[in-house]
Amino acid sequence: MTDQSLSVLGGRDNSEAAALKRASDTPRMLHRPGAVRSSTRPFVKNGILARISLQELASVGEYLEPVVLRERAILQEPKKQLEHIYFIESGLVSLRIVAAGSILETAVMGHRGAVGASLLAGGHLVTHQSVVLFPGSAHRILVEDLRRVLPECSEIREHLFQYAQALNLHCAQTGLCGVRHDREKRLACWICLASDSLESDVLPITHDYLSSMLGLRRPGVTETLIRFEQQGLIRKTRGVLQIGDRRSLERRACSCYKVIAGAYFAAEAPTSANNSIHGSLESYLSAL
Ligand SMILES: [Zn+2]
Repeated sequence: MTDQSLSVLGGRDNSEAAALKRASDTPRMLHRPGAVRSSTRPFVKNGILARISLQELASVGEYLEPVVLRERAILQEPKKQLEHIYFIESGLVSLRIVAAGSILETAVMGHRGAVGASLLAGGHLVTHQSVVLFPGSAHRILVEDLRRVLPECSEIREHLFQYAQALNLHCAQTGLCGVRHDREKRLACWICLASDSLESDVLPITHDYLSSMLGLRRPGVTETLIRFEQQGLIRKTRGVLQIGDRRSLERRACSCYKVIAGAYFAAEAPTSANNSIHGSLESYLSAL
């Protein structure tokens, strides 16, 4: 953390600034003025870090390192040891299955998530490739450092576990989606989920990307997006897709959207998480 960012923190919330300042002699927490999302912790945009207590934020903050996420950067590779957990602050990360020369996207992750969170539930080797789709920033922490502080940080442990549960459901639901649902519903679902993850209605995405990552023929993707545009659901200009009518787009999406969005909502609402996740799982199972 720079002196300048410290002065901004101090001016807005002395208790939080103090917690972060105590965390390290050379604090490294990132703050970008003007890029604050609505959360209970306005200086941390990541949904997991934003919900933990100041005490736990101070404990884990000692080890956090701010990093810039450049487009196409690979954060984790399948079958390799994971070195860092990335708490995403902004941008969008694509989680992919890579097998026999084929790549298929199973989920997208934005500021609500942490790349590598599922490994904390056990296991050592990465199963997915995680690639930065839209550039942004993150706080990263060495896996061994996070494992060291987790026993005394019940909140962050709980939030990571809940997020990993929702992400697992997202990946599984994507598998069902690719087999059972048609192109139009899948594209509408992807756009809504990416928009939620990015907290933006503007997505710098190309037809080629959607075609290759969703396993759809490119002419079909173009045809569907043209139809969406004619119906006022989206607008397209030079590689940028902007959502025009979000509610209608959600109605056009397959049932996977509500199942996945519901799982993330439940993960972020700890008091009712068990019931909500159970409800999401029931919806998931009923769609099989
Ligand atoms: Zn679907």
